[in-house]
Amino acid sequence: DPRLKAISDAIRVVPNFPKPGIMFQDITTLVSNHKVFKDTIDIFVDRYKDMDISVVAGVESRGFIFAPPIALAIGAKFIPLRKPGKLPGETISEAYELEYGTDCLEMHMDAVEQGERALIIDDLVATGGTLSAAIRLLERVGAKVVECACVIGVPELKGRRRLNGKPLYILVEPR
Ligand code: 5GP
Repeated sequence: DPRLKAISDAIRVVPNFPKPGIMFQDITTLVSNHKVFKDTIDIFVDRYKDMDISVVAGVESRGFIFAPPIALAIGAKFIPLRKPGKLPGETISEAYELEYGTDCLEMHMDAVEQGERALIIDDLVATGGTLSAAIRLLERVGAKVVECACVIGVPELKGRRRLNGKPLYILVEPR
């Protein structure tokens, strides 16, 4: 797909952010380019429009940029998976491991009904820890996770392995 090179080229790499040694993949330069942002959303929409998906779950924070336009275009609802303490209603939560310590994602219990077909969206997958927590949240309320999708994916298989066999769809590798 010739659109993928432009998508990759539009991601800005910021060395040593937020910590020394990290090559941060900055997607603000992708979404500020109308053509590239639209191509990115269109690729996801083409893939998911006929898969009978009723819910698109976006992972805080950068998943919130990509998930809503996909949800609107495929006729699904959008739900946010948030960091702890942000959602006002009754929530369930799932912890996941970070390099140092753990973090947690929360979801409103009543956001999804049993048997719904879900797509999970984030901007980037590295270890897969974040997506694994997202999958567990949706499965706890009886949803079927059809696929996880990210704009950027670290190529090693590690991230995929943590997803417990769930399909993972990636557009580009880190630059
Ligand atoms: P994982 O849980 O797969 O190890 O890390 C993925 C999460 O970390 C995603 O929610 C993603 O937003 C964030 N993340 C880690 N590194 C980067 C980066 O370089 N660029 C961006 N945009 N997000 C990152």
